[in-house]
Amino acid sequence: MLSIKRVPTVLSNYQNEEENGGGCGRNCLGKCCLRGAKLPLYTFKKMNEKDLVHKDEDRQGFFLDTLLLGEWEDRMHRGLFRYDVTACETKVIPGEYGFIAQLNEGRHLKKRPTEFRVDRVLQPFDENKFNFTKVGQEEVLFRFEESEDAEACYFQNARMDSTNSPSVVAINVSPIEYAHVLLIPRILECLPQRIDRESFLLALYMAAEAGNPYFRLGYNSLGAFATINHLHFQAYYLAVPFPVEKAPTRKISSVKGLSENEVKIYELSNYPVRGLVFEGGNTLEDLADVVSNACICLQNNNIPYNVLISDSGKRIFIFPQCYAEKQALGEVKQELLDTQVNPAVWEISGHMVLKRKKDYEEASDDNAWRLLAEVSLSEERFQEVEAYIFEAVGAYEEVEDESNLKETEEEVDAGNEGPFNPVLHGNEECYVLQ
Ligand SMILES: [Zn+2]
Repeated sequence: MLSIKRVPTVLSNYQNEEENGGGCGRNCLGKCCLRGAKLPLYTFKKMNEKDLVHKDEDRQGFFLDTLLLGEWEDRMHRGLFRYDVTACETKVIPGEYGFIAQLNEGRHLKKRPTEFRVDRVLQPFDENKFNFTKVGQEEVLFRFEESEDAEACYFQNARMDSTNSPSVVAINVSPIEYAHVLLIPRILECLPQRIDRESFLLALYMAAEAGNPYFRLGYNSLGAFATINHLHFQAYYLAVPFPVEKAPTRKISSVKGLSENEVKIYELSNYPVRGLVFEGGNTLEDLADVVSNACICLQNNNIPYNVLISDSGKRIFIFPQCYAEKQALGEVKQELLDTQVNPAVWEISGHMVLKRKKDYEEASDDNAWRLLAEVSLSEERFQEVEAYIFEAVGAYEEVEDESNLKETEEEVDAGNEGPFNPVLHGNEECYVLQ
């Protein structure tokens, strides 16, 4: 068995508490307290092809966006976070992609290292370990579910019925950016950390509903720095493009489906972590089908991976990785281990959360590349993994010649994305000092 010791990130204020057993009476998200409880409900409309095309013009702003930010700020004023993320220093590191460094000294204090098994991507749910049913209801912002009458709505005082296993959006009490939240699909089903089609589609719907290119969702598998084995995605706002969104890509394959607009697969071509990018399809379902199949393939082959959902759910990055495995085998250089940076989805995408002032002050493009290069699979291994994925999703190879390298910088620069107003309350300067 391979394992590493690390200080786990505290996602909920209830994570340190001892198990209380059933009927706890402290307003948790378990069956003991959830039945009949009032928990705000946001329902989203399942979008068809036409909606996807006309969505941006049809809607008067994006309500989910406003709601999410408002409720998150409310929890901040109620003092539910472990530290004030708006006081964390952040800077863009000069360089080709502009890696973002954040000094976050509050995130990992007061916790002893825990042993994590890193050689099993799929592990059964263990009800004796911390899971999100133990979280207090005050950490929940709202339920996030598909609408029954096909309209997006918000119900402040919706009561839970007895059959429902709600998908909930809760705060991450150790935020790394504004409105850092967790999306926990069908919480009462106690699903282990593994991607399935339905849950992945839910995450894409959340990205699409927010309709803000600064809002991304991320996923870490076990063995790739997830610390809680209870299915969850993370999400937050970052008011600049992630470096990986600016990296050039090369089209390598397509997946022909029933729809005329096929899902296209690209390879990152000049980025420290090798990865695949998925776009297209007529509907979010098309894209979710292909990407979740790719994730399931990685899971079944026991390959740890991270996923970034960007561009309001229209662009998905998958990074198979091997850092934790190397770390367990003693193959990572001490100077990198000393930084205690855990390269999960946000770090891999270029948002480096640093724990030591020294590392923050010395942050450079070179240092970011050096760390991330350790996360990446080798070229040879990556090609193997890519072949597994192509087989699993039914992709056919279609290599573009080098002259067609797609420079995506302009397309994905969130700042150039037409008429949307980033809803960022508070003091924006705190987040990114450019
Ligand atoms: Zn309870």
